Formats: sequence, structure tokens, C-alpha cells
Amino acid sequence: MPTASASIRIIDTPEQMHSLSGEIRSSGRRLGLVPTMGALHEGHLSLMRLARAQCDVVAASIFVNPLQFGPNEDFDKYPRTFESDCHKLEAEKVSLLFAPTTEAMYPPGAKTFVEVGEISDRLDGRSRAGHFRGVATVVTKLFTIVQPDVAFFGQKDAAQVAIIQRLVRDLNLDVRIVVAPIVRESDGLAMSSRNAYLSPQERKQAPVLYRALMRVQKLADQGERNTAKLIASGKAVIAEEPGVRLDYFEIVDPQTLQGVSDLRSGALVAVAAYVGTTRLIDNVLLSGGGEVRTSLR
Ligand code: AMP
Repeated sequence: MPTASASIRIIDTPEQMHSLSGEIRSSGRRLGLVPTMGALHEGHLSLMRLARAQCDVVAASIFVNPLQFGPNEDFDKYPRTFESDCHKLEAEKVSLLFAPTTEAMYPPGAKTFVEVGEISDRLDGRSRAGHFRGVATVVTKLFTIVQPDVAFFGQKDAAQVAIIQRLVRDLNLDVRIVVAPIVRESDGLAMSSRNAYLSPQERKQAPVLYRALMRVQKLADQGERNTAKLIASGKAVIAEEPGVRLDYFEIVDPQTLQGVSDLRSGALVAVAAYVGTTRLIDNVLLSGGGEVRTSLR
């Protein structure tokens, strides 16, 4: 699979990665990990830059994790652009890339999974059964293999962030989690590897998710505190766009992902919708979201 390229070091076995990270840590250098599924875009690269600013050595990982895809989801067609990803990582001066095979991550007979109770069934977890079990399992394995001091995730996947922060606390994992703001296209569409699936017509419709979030934010800024009304106004914006089918539109506590009935500072407005057959997600934190959030170890 991976071919060597000029300056990035590509590691494809957990054993090699583990011993290399041991060397890095014992030399006193701070190691940052940016987990991805590849098909890298500016959203991913913003995480690499943040990691470079905070760490001495940055390891990216590229692994399209079969465990987090449902049987009728897009695992097979998920975009895989390994060579160009390597060039982008080199341009960002990322020095290590962990890119294991599925067999290396899940050898035959693997039977252990990590499950974060309750919150894994909320938001995306409700419509994507088993998704967050797959995420929690692969992230735990990546943390064990790479042993980063700090790991970087995007606010784009807000439910994933809540689950990983819960996981780190519950299992006393020795890693600091840094969450970076959502990077958007100029029309507001959140960058996503899945945007590549959109036809030109669907691409024009897709910013409706962001417009719906902005409508809610504006009403909240104007003093509306009733979350049922706010949700209804967001849903109405989505309904204006034919060909876009809502999955969920919710206002929740960003840590527990439980719905809130009265608006409070820091509430998370989250949306998922199908544009054609492509499922897109987006969100905004109502207390002026977008800032870098850091959790204590
Ligand atoms: P993925 O490759 O989709 O698994 O994403 C890898 C990481 O990049 C996750 O932590 C995502 O939340 C983050 N990410 C994806 N899209 C964006 C974006 N538009 N802005 C910021 N971070 C993002």
C-alpha cells in the first residue's frame, strides 16, 4: 500500500508506530496526533497546523475504519486519495503518517470493543447504529498505539468530540484533547470529504444546513430562548430546499448531547441532512462557537 515519499515517514504497523512513539516521548518531545480517514481538505489541514503549533512532532493517521460504517453506508466508495494526502501532509511539514491496513488494526479474532454508554445513541448515533462504538474503539486503539500527548479533533463532528472527551475521562487516558473550529467553504458549507459525492446541483443546495444554523443563531442572538421555536425555525429553512431530507435538527448540551428545553450558554445546535443520497452534518455552538476548546487531562 503506502509508497514512501520525500520527507514524510509512513508507518503501517502498530508495532512500528508504538516503538517510534516510545522513542519520541522518551526523548522529551511532545507528540501530537491528528486522526483522519484521509481525502484531506482544509479542515483536516487546519488541525495539522494547530498540532504543529502545539507539539514538537506531529503524527497524522489515515485509516478508513470499517467498524464505524453501517452495512448500508459508504465504506466501499469512501474517497481514498493516499498519494495526494501525503503531498498535503508534507506541505504542512507533518513528519509522521500512521496508515495501517484493516488487517493490522483488526487482526482475525479481534473481539474487544469500546462502548461509551448513552451518548453514543444520541444525534448521529441514533441514525447510525454502532457508529460511535466503532469510533470509540478505533480512537482508543490509536491512542494506545501512538501514545500522543495531545490529540486534535474538529468541532465539525461535535457528537464525536463529546464521546471522545467522555471516553478519555472514563478510561483515565493520558491524552489531552484539543478541539478546533469548523473550516467552511466561502458559502458556509462545512468542509467534508463527503462533499466530493455532491453533484453540481446538490453542491448548490448543501449550504442550506449552514443557513438553517445561522437562522437559529440569529434568533437566539435576538433573545429567543425557547428551543422548540428555535428548532422549528431551523427545520423550516431546511424544508425550503427540495431534495434535502432532514435527519435531525437538535439543540443539546455539548457534553451529554441531551436536548435542552431552555437555551443556555454553550448550547450546541446540530443538524444532519441528506442532500440527495449524501448525508452531511454541521453545527454551531451558541455561545459564539468556533473557539478552540481544550479539555484538561
Ligand atoms: P475525518 O477524516 O472525516 O474522520 O475527519 C478527521 C478529523 O478532521 C475529525 O476530527 C474531524 O472533525 C475533522 N474535520 C473534518 N472536517 C472538518 C472541518 N470542516 N473543519 C474542521 N475539522 C474538520
